Amino acid sequence: MIVFNYGGGRQTTAMCILIAKGILPKPGVVVMADTGRENDSTWDYMEAYTRPLLKTLGLEIEIANRELATVDLYGGNGDLLLPVFTQTGKLPGFCSNEWKRRVVDRHLRATGRTDGTRWLGLAFDEKRRWIDKHNVTEGKWKCVCPLVDLMLNTDACLTIIENYGWPLPITSSCWMCPHKRNAQWRHLRDNYPEQWQQAIELDEEIRENDEQGGVFLHHSRVPLGEADISKDESASVERRCSLGMCFV
Ligand code: SF4
Repeated sequence: MIVFNYGGGRQTTAMCILIAKGILPKPGVVVMADTGRENDSTWDYMEAYTRPLLKTLGLEIEIANRELATVDLYGGNGDLLLPVFTQTGKLPGFCSNEWKRRVVDRHLRATGRTDGTRWLGLAFDEKRRWIDKHNVTEGKWKCVCPLVDLMLNTDACLTIIENYGWPLPITSSCWMCPHKRNAQWRHLRDNYPEQWQQAIELDEEIRENDEQGGVFLHHSRVPLGEADISKDESASVERRCSLGMCFV
């Protein structure tokens, strides 16, 4: 069985179109983890475009429920799970593993899917993200990145979506994700002001809970509400989680 980890972003949107065109085989399961904090733009796009398309193929996007996560912002040892910025660096993020990977694993087990191939939506140009995942077997699952096999990079995904007549989806992530670039923060602020406000409040909350008070969602290491998000960073700045289940 093929399990397609749908992420709601550009790569997995292009994969939906490739399935509809018969370029990729029809998977047995399409599943997306609900972190409880996903950008509304991701759900809006899914409902408007990808879910209806997959439905015409007899495929339903299954949502792995957030209640399957056993931890929220802090792990069992009390450590913050988000990849936040500190005064001297950046913490490793464990949220993707706890809120997505493990949640999807539990959803699959609970629904009797215990082996097969799992698709991740990493593009050919994201080699640093797929090099240790593509064609790797873990237990009874083999992980495959179909866009890598097809040698399709992120720009090619955008072209596939545009040629299909769809608008480009906003990069998928949680609304408070520290990996966000300034353009993504601006989009949140300008289009989803409630989630922007929630992100500002969460940014304050994690600092209050931090003994040194030195953790930040924004890479400039100032409170999010005060951060200068007006300018785009250099294209070479790369801040994405390594699991391949976010920003896809
Ligand atoms: S999008 Fe960001 S905050 Fe959300 S699970 Fe992924 S790395 Fe964590």
